[in-house]
Amino acid sequence: MALIVQKYGGSSVADAESIKRVAKRIVDTRRAGHDVVVAVSAMGDTTDELLDLANEVAPIPAPRELDMLLSSGERISMALLAMAIHSMGFEARSFTGSQAGMITDAKHGAARIVDVTPVRLREALDEGAIVIVAGFQGFNRDTRDITTLGRGGSDTTAVALAAALDADVCEIYSDVDGIFTADPRVIPRARKLDTISSEEMLELAANGAKVLYIRAVEFARRHGVLIHARSTFTSSEGTYVLGEGMKNPRGPEGAAMEEPIVAGVATDLTQAKITVVGVPDVPGKAAEIFTVVAKSGANVDMIVQNVSAASTGRTDISFTLPKADAPAALKALAGDQGEIGFENLIHDDQIGKLSVVGAGMRTHSGVSATLFEALRDTGINIEMISTSEIRISVVLRGADLVEAARAVHTAYGLDSEIEAVVHAGTGR
Ligand code: ASP
Ligand code: MG
Repeated sequence: MALIVQKYGGSSVADAESIKRVAKRIVDTRRAGHDVVVAVSAMGDTTDELLDLANEVAPIPAPRELDMLLSSGERISMALLAMAIHSMGFEARSFTGSQAGMITDAKHGAARIVDVTPVRLREALDEGAIVIVAGFQGFNRDTRDITTLGRGGSDTTAVALAAALDADVCEIYSDVDGIFTADPRVIPRARKLDTISSEEMLELAANGAKVLYIRAVEFARRHGVLIHARSTFTSSEGTYVLGEGMKNPRGPEGAAMEEPIVAGVATDLTQAKITVVGVPDVPGKAAEIFTVVAKSGANVDMIVQNVSAASTGRTDISFTLPKADAPAALKALAGDQGEIGFENLIHDDQIGKLSVVGAGMRTHSGVSATLFEALRDTGINIEMISTSEIRISVVLRGADLVEAARAVHTAYGLDSEIEAVVHAGTGR
């Protein structure tokens, strides 16, 4: 008998029918003899609708009240799910984040879990109940207020529960079959992976892959939680996210795993590029620029500095950042133009970022050449390049991103024979 944590996202509990289907799944797991703890998201687009409502009554809703409001979404789904399970003849009990002992810091809207004290959950499990916990929410001990963990936070709730209860596995259900070599909505020939290392998953998530939330994967990696990302719509196995030293639960003991060099391709259209033109090429200018940009609150990703023109002694510095951060960064830079001494600013929000991720890059050469050749063959121009130990990213025109991603996916031999099935539309 195992202890299994299951997380169901908003699209899995969007209406009464789906709630009943999820209830059946939970009951089936219980029938198989396992203890079950469920973290559930708010139904469908509830969180977005609540946010819209808040913005209608107040231009800048008070963070404390916003958390009170948003946390109510998960209360609805958890109670309905418990009722649905009751009506199937099983004992289930729902708990809010604070009842479940989800202790966070006090940062409303983006709280971090600092401790989990699942006393009541253990009691309920000992009494044979199925436990349902509201995802995405917690409680701060100092302020004694309800907090939320940030959008998509129910994944983190599930992983934190799995860690605190020492669960055997944390199953994260959504409307896709698992983790793919690319987003199947972008690349229909994307292939489902049986396993992926948490390190690769983190790089993919940080570079645009949307299946799992970064913070949940980080939490799992730190606490040794085995994640199984799978679909609500099928009973087939999905993808296991393996932390360091974890064995593939599916593979026979000691079986040699065929380690592909590249695990996947991620695309990202949410970044913009700012070029600071004509920066005096003297020590300290990059420091000035990026201090100003950091103060504006922008999260800089890639940076490229060109060689300076000998005749002018000036250079251009380009960097990428989330589109939403660009206006503030531009304003801050413009405000310090005289001091920094650059000539002008160019804002480009039509870029796309393509990343190739694979732990095998550490030990294999020629991985980047394959990428560049694939792009050359499609005639797509590369504007920026950056690498980490297990990732290569390029910036190109956003309009070229899909074609580029498909070509690169093929070039690394990742294409599957059949087209991936996308059950619903959102991936959540
Ligand atoms: N309901 C929250 C959201 O939509 C949390 C979640 O779905 O994980 O962001
Ligand atoms: Mg949601």
